Amino acid sequence: MEYEAVIGLETHVQLKTKSKMWCGCANAFGSPPNTNVCPVCLGLPGVLPVPNEEALRLTVLTGFLLNCEIPRFAKFDRKSYFYPDMPKNYQITQYDKPSTANGHVEFEFNGGRACVRITRAHLEEDVGKSTHFERNSGVDFNRAGVPLMEIVSEPDLTSADMAYEYLNALKDILVYGGVSDCDMEKGMVRCDVNVSVRPKGAKELGAKIEIKNMNSFSGVRRALEYEISRQIEVLTKGGKLIQSTRRWDDVAGITEEMRTKEDAHDYRYFPDPDLMPLAPTDAWLAEVKSRVVELPLARKQRFMRDYGLPASDAQTFVWDVPLGNYFEGIAKKSKNPKPIANWVINNLRAKLAEANERRTGVAPVSIEEDKLETGATLVPQMTLADLKFKPEAIVELAGLVENKTISSSAAQQVFAEMFETGKSPAAIVREKGLAQVSDTGAIEKFCDEAIAANPGPVADFKAGKAAALNFLKGQVMKLSKGKANPALAGEILERKLKG
Ligand SMILES: [Zn+2]
Repeated sequence: MEYEAVIGLETHVQLKTKSKMWCGCANAFGSPPNTNVCPVCLGLPGVLPVPNEEALRLTVLTGFLLNCEIPRFAKFDRKSYFYPDMPKNYQITQYDKPSTANGHVEFEFNGGRACVRITRAHLEEDVGKSTHFERNSGVDFNRAGVPLMEIVSEPDLTSADMAYEYLNALKDILVYGGVSDCDMEKGMVRCDVNVSVRPKGAKELGAKIEIKNMNSFSGVRRALEYEISRQIEVLTKGGKLIQSTRRWDDVAGITEEMRTKEDAHDYRYFPDPDLMPLAPTDAWLAEVKSRVVELPLARKQRFMRDYGLPASDAQTFVWDVPLGNYFEGIAKKSKNPKPIANWVINNLRAKLAEANERRTGVAPVSIEEDKLETGATLVPQMTLADLKFKPEAIVELAGLVENKTISSSAAQQVFAEMFETGKSPAAIVREKGLAQVSDTGAIEKFCDEAIAANPGPVADFKAGKAAALNFLKGQVMKLSKGKANPALAGEILERKLKG
């Protein structure tokens, strides 16, 4: 029998706020243990929470970015939680009245488009972090009370790869929207995975298996691959699956049972009596909506449509936002944006990386990452703002190649020079005498010289080795110091050799 997987994800994302959800403590990663704490986030008796308005805005903004409805009434509830990393013994969350609901995310998958429905994105708080030592355990409450958003998907995902692409798309959207930095290394994104299998085409869902607290997208993909084949194997052998929660062991590459439905938690939700319900006004919603940005997929499509770029170039400009904005600034001034994109991606980006490599001795992975990691290196990194030449110079340079004033190899020299000195392409061409020779008489002379000096390749060409022509063309370019019009040189050579 053939089986299909049904997957839903609950993705927890730390919001990008300066302070915590209910108090003024810093929302900062990497501080010494228990230094960003106060009576509120330590859950001491008698304290009162004050909601962080920016966290509310970011949650509703996420709702807009994920095409959700924004209910005019939402509230906070208490969820029983008896673990040492949350001393007040409950977590504040949104139970039956979340701040956003009924959205969807579109993303590229398998060469086409996929759409996953979003059940809700609601606001809650993170818990502290337990560390277990040899003889005792410690809890760091710096993370307790950090604003945490939970994004729940409908079970629309059907494979491990699809789940992986969905998570990446979601992350891109949240980073673009300024909602979260989504730094996996710092634990800013964690996932709970629900997965079941059923005979292909069946309506009923199989027993739901939950895998808790995954902290990497590749881990989610591997865990799903493992779990789907494990479930299929159990069913194929005539076994039965029961609703349960499992743990992913990333080192061993397997899932292990933690608990079954019988010992499931009773969370005993009830409305938090210390917090007023939320009733966003039109003006407040309009203010949040004004922060909606163009999403990565829309940006990619716009770059392909408006500038005639191939998908790979457009994707580069999606990942590297400053570079894409730089390109867009000059592409608007050109009738032919494609060569401009080539200059920006292949030459400018490479030159910047090279310059930064010289400065630090370490090659940055990309300009964008470099920008995000400010402070990672002691030497300030060169950015697009530090360029010596004006953006329009790239349009001018591309124009000189297009109207055949200079050859593409000469253009490389011009670019290197303008990158170093900031001089205009026209000035560099004049100074260095790089203007292409399209004068037939002059090129004929170089061709005669090349033919006379290379009897071997000439004989090869006459014997039918077409490749020998490229060698002779190279010699003509060399003799002309790169200035001969290569197409013209090829034509003249061929005429002379065949004549
Ligand atoms: Zn605090």
